[in-house]
Amino acid sequence: MEAKQIRSTFISFFQSKQHQFVPSAPIVIKNDPTLMFTNAGMNQFKDAFLGNETAKFSRVANSQKCLRVSGKHNDLEEVGVDTYHHTMFEMLGNWSFGDYFKQEAIAWAWELLTEVYKLPKDQLYVSVFEGDKGDQLGMDQEAYDFWKAIVPEDRIIMGSKKDNFWEMGDTGPCGPCSEIHIDLRSEEERASIPGRYLVNNDHPQVIEIWNLVFMQYNRLSDGTLKELPAKHVDTGMGFERLVRAIQAKSSNYDTDLFTPFIQYLEQKSGKLYGKDEQTDIAFRVIVDHIRAISFTIADGQLPSNNKAGYVIRRILRRAVRYGYTFLGFSEPFLHELTGLIAENFGEIFPEVKDQRDFIAKVIQEEESSFLRTLDKGLKMLDSIKAELGEKGEQVISGKTAFELYDTFGFPLDLTSLIARESGFSLDEQGFASEMEKQKNRSRAASESETGDWVLVHEDEGVEFIGYDFLESFAHIIKYRTVKDKKGDKYQLVLDKTPFYAESGGQVGDTGWLISESEKIRVIDTKRENDLIVHFVEKLPKKPEVRFSAEIDKEKRQLTMNNHTATHLLQSALRQVLGSHIQQRGSLVNHQVLRFDFSHFAKMTDEELNQVEHIVNAKIRENIALMEQRNVPIEEAKKMGATALFGEKYGDYVRVITFDPNFSVELCGGTHVSSTSQVGLFKIVSEGSVASGVRRIEALTAAAAENYFRQQETLLKELKDLLKNPKDLRKSIENLIDERNELKKEIEGLYLEKASSIKKDLLQQVQIKDGMQTLVAKITLPHADALKKLAYELKNELENAFVILAANISEKPQIAVILAEDLIQSKGLNAGQIVRELAKEIQGGGGGQPFFATAGGKNLEGLNQVVTKARKLYQ
Ligand code: ATP
Ligand code: MG
Repeated sequence: MEAKQIRSTFISFFQSKQHQFVPSAPIVIKNDPTLMFTNAGMNQFKDAFLGNETAKFSRVANSQKCLRVSGKHNDLEEVGVDTYHHTMFEMLGNWSFGDYFKQEAIAWAWELLTEVYKLPKDQLYVSVFEGDKGDQLGMDQEAYDFWKAIVPEDRIIMGSKKDNFWEMGDTGPCGPCSEIHIDLRSEEERASIPGRYLVNNDHPQVIEIWNLVFMQYNRLSDGTLKELPAKHVDTGMGFERLVRAIQAKSSNYDTDLFTPFIQYLEQKSGKLYGKDEQTDIAFRVIVDHIRAISFTIADGQLPSNNKAGYVIRRILRRAVRYGYTFLGFSEPFLHELTGLIAENFGEIFPEVKDQRDFIAKVIQEEESSFLRTLDKGLKMLDSIKAELGEKGEQVISGKTAFELYDTFGFPLDLTSLIARESGFSLDEQGFASEMEKQKNRSRAASESETGDWVLVHEDEGVEFIGYDFLESFAHIIKYRTVKDKKGDKYQLVLDKTPFYAESGGQVGDTGWLISESEKIRVIDTKRENDLIVHFVEKLPKKPEVRFSAEIDKEKRQLTMNNHTATHLLQSALRQVLGSHIQQRGSLVNHQVLRFDFSHFAKMTDEELNQVEHIVNAKIRENIALMEQRNVPIEEAKKMGATALFGEKYGDYVRVITFDPNFSVELCGGTHVSSTSQVGLFKIVSEGSVASGVRRIEALTAAAAENYFRQQETLLKELKDLLKNPKDLRKSIENLIDERNELKKEIEGLYLEKASSIKKDLLQQVQIKDGMQTLVAKITLPHADALKKLAYELKNELENAFVILAANISEKPQIAVILAEDLIQSKGLNAGQIVRELAKEIQGGGGGQPFFATAGGKNLEGLNQVVTKARKLYQ
């Protein structure tokens, strides 16, 4: 059976059991501070498990894109080394939200695997939670009994908390689980050692394929477990592993999910997969990583220097480095694989097909820049080795290795490999301790501790009323304390709130909570999944009373101007630049708007003017806002509404329209009621943020007016400076011309002076050991002249050895220049000499072996430089 069919069979099997198919959530998580990437199918249903939200369907089946490269689930170092852990993988799942429980989950899993996929029953093992003293939990007798009805008892294995109690993170929904493992060894091997001894023992052919989790508890931050209001089923089956089992392969990489990629790399590198362990790892790393990279970029995460972006950058670099070291790819190559990604996964995940060109471009740019860094790092390593060699040392220090790792992305194994190849060893312990130090530094900087929610009022859901109201009465449902280095902070949730929580680029509202006895400042509002969390400076003394929740209205108005302008801008960009314009990020606050979009060239002034003109024309047209809430997503798409890649949309969406023929967007933000309120629109910058992504910053309303006023003031000041000329441009042009003439004249004078100094100096040349030596003190107007003079002397003298101590506009400088031959024949080095002499002027410097300069603080020291140089070298 082909992979595609295996996937669709899973879905249709559960559809036949009344499950609703739902698409994968984005791989990059935006509204959950505890997670950067989706690491399991259950992430998108977390709120349903916790009871914060009622599930739309009680039975669901899906294939979720997961990434396990950070946090509690991090498989990165295994990937490629073994044959069954991936960075990005698909997790097939069936779900029950307060509907069926252990019995059906177990029976259906068995039916699907053995009856539909026809996996051999006697090669399957199942595990059951044995209980845990610390958590005061007994064994999962229920699950055991259901399994016993279908599986012989010698293939039921009891498992500890580590393997059979599933937790998403340090806190959150969790519960006992039953795993299904498959023994894919040969018949002989199976006969000699029974598979049950190899389950959960890292045997590459005895692997877990499916985990059935029975969600029963919520883990609180103090480590205790609390029963969930209802019981749920959450299953996760590694799709790649399943395909391998059904296709009876000994490695995930031998399935049709990966072979097209491996074949491409074989052709490109001229190397064969399956010949050598080290190159095989490289093949696997690359074909695995390209999926992770492409899918995350498709979901809107660009490689960058922090957080999720940095994780992607690290994965990409790992792939490039393996290709570089083991497959001989010294030019960008990864981006070429994006075509195969689109071809092989575009059907079920259209985002990788639709954005193929963009993804390829981003990857290629990253690759090129990393290859340049790699090259620099290799050169640095060469010179480190040379230096050590001179000193007769053999060990590259942990500090050096760490520096290479930290600044050039050289992982330890690469440095160690290169070291070994040239007969050096590496202080691995030293490296580990440097690494530890850095981890501690960043841990200390980011550590925060989130307390549990304290309930104040019955939780009947949270209502956002901020589209229609700017203030309202509200009750606090719950609050909690967050401790970090900067002290305690507080968060609270209201039963209904006018406060807009940061999302879609629009910042959160600020404002006040006012009761009869207190006034509390709300400093920010953010989302946590579907909760609206208000960040407050202090906790109310009487949290149970009724509050008036009031947002800062002026700030909101300014923010709305900018948000509406962002929509108009997007449509104007499409008109002027073309329909390929996609939003890649935005920031909208009360001061400015920032809009990132895909486009490959710098915008011309003409294009910018056109865009600005269109937006301002639309503002003057005074177009009324058309806001539609709860539009079925399909209908919204038919209306031509612009959606964002990587954004999680529900079945019902909000559509914001300013003229159906101009701007229709899916948007949860707040907008002005008619465009004229925006007042004025002015672009203040356009530039690049990443390969293929441009950024526009713009101002609206009073801020735009201010901007024009400032420009006007500047112009006026310039006119004043030039004594109000009739033609400002002409008089500036005249100034520039004049300045250029003067510059030429001065240069001429310099030259004359330098040539007379040179004549003088040539008189002072002495001959020593076949060298023409010169040590002299001179005065020159600028450092360039000194360099020029030094080079001229070198060219005119035979075997030149020249030391000049110069007073340059009352600052001391030394230049040392020698004939290249002397470096070898006499072992001289200009850098060393200049550093020695620079001590006399309290300075330092360096350069190349034949030419070096130094600056310093002590002008008086120049005489001493001359005396010392004569003594040492003349
Ligand atoms: P393992 O012990 O093999 O790492 P796990 O216990 O971490 O697996 P779960 O968290 O239970 O796995 O995830 C459910 C299923 O997802 C597993 O049964 C397995 O088939 C699959 N899976 C987990 N991690 C990976 C991975 N890194 N790559 C591919 N599939 C995976
Ligand atoms: Mg694991």
